[in-house]
Amino acid sequence: MCSPYVLVMPRIFSGIQPSGELHIGNYLGAVKNWVRLQDLHETIVCIVDYHAITVAYEPEMLRKRRREMALSLLAAGIDPEKATLFVQSQVPEHTELAWIFNSVCPLGELERQTQFKDKAQRQESVAAGLLTYPVLQAADILLYRADLVPVGEDQVQHLELSRVIARRWNALYASEAQPFFPEPQPSLTPTRRVMGLDGQAKMSKSLNNYVGLLESSEEVWAKLRPAVTDPARMKRTDPGTPEVCNIYHLHKAFSPEPTVATVAHNCSTAGWGCIDCKKVLHQSMEAELVPIRRRAEELRANPTRVDDALAEGAEHCRALARQTMAEVKERMGLA
Ligand code: SF4
Repeated sequence: MCSPYVLVMPRIFSGIQPSGELHIGNYLGAVKNWVRLQDLHETIVCIVDYHAITVAYEPEMLRKRRREMALSLLAAGIDPEKATLFVQSQVPEHTELAWIFNSVCPLGELERQTQFKDKAQRQESVAAGLLTYPVLQAADILLYRADLVPVGEDQVQHLELSRVIARRWNALYASEAQPFFPEPQPSLTPTRRVMGLDGQAKMSKSLNNYVGLLESSEEVWAKLRPAVTDPARMKRTDPGTPEVCNIYHLHKAFSPEPTVATVAHNCSTAGWGCIDCKKVLHQSMEAELVPIRRRAEELRANPTRVDDALAEGAEHCRALARQTMAEVKERMGLA
């Protein structure tokens, strides 16, 4: 007998910059989690090219990187049969809703954002878009009335602003009892931020301390071999402290638990050298990365699969966005 109740799956929205090929920091810190979540929730993944133009860039490079990002995400396991993948600028309602939210977002809240302060300090001339970036981010999420947003700890402040904007708009154009926009909740990403191979800063392309997700086995080893380890291990006979070593943390992300325990033991007892330890890490990484590389090769050989996934994703999202905007405009006297 059919149940009269319909189970509504929570909707998840995730955004990622079109920075080209993913690196293992993006993969472990975000994308691997999205791949898991696509089996549990209605998942929308957006390549946020409108966000990318708030700093200097080259148009041709943006186009190339946007596509590489799409290919990387599909290779990493985002499945168009389960999740929706699209490019932000293909759904114009993102910027339309952002303008509407600009009219309710308090300026003081934007000026307090630490990411704005950091980025603005590094530039001579600051584009207004850098300040209002979190408003567009709120529009990205709320356009789909998403319930959950997978975030790292450094993005919780931006998400809080989305909640403030949702509350403000609801107070003006809906009601507390029946809010139109949900206040999106953070779903904290399980892997903490992944450090770069220099062991100094978060893994990033601009610092050139990264391993690309699609790099060959040889390229990965060429980067792992000289990677910084516990500085206390000057000689092979010096015992180390695994917790201070980035290679140990990468083992925790890629190696099975018994291997991680062996690493900790062999490190703290000087039972092996760092190159031995890195060889084992390389093997563990290969086990996870080989199928991803294989999928990437298949996608490069069949580029229409990437185009089709993005086109279908954009079409689906435009339909959802139009529904939201029709209601928003009606309530605001704009329709
Ligand atoms: S043995 Fe492994 S965990 Fe210990 S310092 Fe060397 S690379 Fe790091």
